[in-house]
Amino acid sequence: MVIRRSTPSDFKPYKRHPVTDAFDAIVIGSGIGGLATAALLARYGGRKVLVLERHYTPGGFTHVFRRPGYEWDVGVHYIGNVRPGSVLRAVFDVIGDGGIEWADMGEVYDRIVIGADSYDFPKGRERFRAAMKAYFPGEEAAIDAYLAALREALSGLGSFMAGKALPGAIGALAGPLLGRRTLAWAKRTTREVLEGLTRNQRLIAVLAGQFGDYGLPPAASSFLAHAMVASHYLDGAWYPVGGSGVFVDAIVPVIQAAGGRLLINAEVAGIAVEDDRVVGVRMALDGATIRAPVVVSDAGIVNTFGRLLPQDLARRHGLPQALATVRPSIAHLCLYVGFRESAQALRLPKHNIWVYPHEDHERSFAALDRDPDAALPMAFISFPSAKDPDFERRHPGRATVDVVAFAPYAWFERWQDTHWKDRGEEYEAFKETLAQRMLETLFEQLPQLRGKVDCHELSTPLTTRHFCNYGQGEIYGIDHSPQRFRQRFLRPATPIRGLYLTGQDIVSCGVGGAMMGGVLTASAILRRNLLSAIRQSAPRRTGGESEAGATLSAEGRARA
Ligand SMILES: Cc1cc2nc3c(=O)[nH]c(=O)nc-3n(C[C@H](O)[C@H](O)[C@H](O)COP(=O)(O)OP(=O)(O)OC[C@H]3O[C@@H](n4cnc5c(N)ncnc54)[C@H](O)[C@@H]3O)c2cc1C
Repeated sequence: MVIRRSTPSDFKPYKRHPVTDAFDAIVIGSGIGGLATAALLARYGGRKVLVLERHYTPGGFTHVFRRPGYEWDVGVHYIGNVRPGSVLRAVFDVIGDGGIEWADMGEVYDRIVIGADSYDFPKGRERFRAAMKAYFPGEEAAIDAYLAALREALSGLGSFMAGKALPGAIGALAGPLLGRRTLAWAKRTTREVLEGLTRNQRLIAVLAGQFGDYGLPPAASSFLAHAMVASHYLDGAWYPVGGSGVFVDAIVPVIQAAGGRLLINAEVAGIAVEDDRVVGVRMALDGATIRAPVVVSDAGIVNTFGRLLPQDLARRHGLPQALATVRPSIAHLCLYVGFRESAQALRLPKHNIWVYPHEDHERSFAALDRDPDAALPMAFISFPSAKDPDFERRHPGRATVDVVAFAPYAWFERWQDTHWKDRGEEYEAFKETLAQRMLETLFEQLPQLRGKVDCHELSTPLTTRHFCNYGQGEIYGIDHSPQRFRQRFLRPATPIRGLYLTGQDIVSCGVGGAMMGGVLTASAILRRNLLSAIRQSAPRRTGGESEAGATLSAEGRARA
């Protein structure tokens, strides 16, 4: 099999490239979950897969958008656990045929700013432990207990995930048993667990300072979501060299090598079912039905069960009741900022900065429900052009910064029936007010950027709804509450034969989480444990990491 990198000409629009040949499977949506499923079906099952993406750019939240002189990723700021030899790295290597390279983000990956104080999260469990103990003298035992709790909470994760991939009756019986250990942690909130370890509210606020990565503050989030994110980055963070567009570019050729295709502007209007068996999908553009014996939806559980399936069928299988047990995650704003100077000249850091006015994350989060005119209660700042060693080659003398903040969909609901780029002056004015507040937060953290902004553009929950098809502009699909992790229907197999789910709603959000959803889904379809197969067949490449990353992994091996 000869693998190459795809180019924009590989992504053909449905309108001009109708589907005439037969496919073994159809994947709705080209997010990392959909792409991983398709690539694994191609690679391990030889399946010919058709990926249908409604947007004009593939990749879901890993897609990239461009403006003259600039490009920005929309949903990738850092990824953990991709050191050579790790499970995630093996999966990336297999689905991208070793074509995804990684740049190490350096010694510190996150900085938590609370009021005037800041706390760095350094790479490596022991360095993290030492840093927290230095920030919080007298809390040594709590910090040790916290790190032990992270390890314990994830010790049964493999079984929990395997339980989701098991078929039918076996899955129904063995799934809950396999997941027992993980569920015991998942049903507790992050705050419950942390309060059980310490009374120091500042320490709790710092340890939960990445809560924006799973979308719920400590009192509402499952400790499992917290543990997955915190542990994911403990060993440091990496950024894909070339930006997040490299995922699609590397993965699509693997799908094509088995005869598969990816079509853009290819919105699926419905899933076609006959006698409780999936038979294909109905296209929004022309109403045509494309037939296939297997359909996988990466469009999210709310879209799949709530909109794409015939609703009488969904009711017959109790799917509306199932959906009522989960809630959409909060929406977000992202300010994309461009500068006519390089990241180096502007002294941009590689680490992210989380900015909070005070240590009460619940109060910050609740403030969002009250007043869109109040100061933004939290912000996340990321510096993609500093993280990507290839950015300067593509965009010499330019730099980019992203500022992300939560925002309830309700703030924007009144404009939901307007059209993209034509939502009216009031909407534009509201956006500009929010953008200026976010810029102010950026300048407070990096004063050297004041007066240097070349351009900025704000995305809102309506942008997410328009481009990614999340009805409430959800940032992370369904939210990561204890309740979510108890739901047995959040698994690849559905009650409709031949219909499978994939992506971030299966286990958790995050590029790694959604991709692992893809591994489980492909395993369920092929009835084979693909994780062990992946570990064995991950390409052994030496060039898969930037120089800095390679040096560090050599160090890691030496320590081991
Ligand atoms: C602002 C932001 C920052 C983030 N930062 C990080 C980070 O730093 N690190 C990290 O690991 N994760 C991060 N994430 C999370 C991560 O990007 C997502 O969890 C993950 O990419 C989701 O992948 P997915 O495959 O489940 O779904 P998606 O990426 O949402 O893909 C679903 C696809 O389905 C398509 N679709 C929907 N309906 C239809 C239809 N009817 N027909 C055809 N196509 C359809 C959509 O257009 C979309 O392309 C971030 C997310 C956001 C929003």
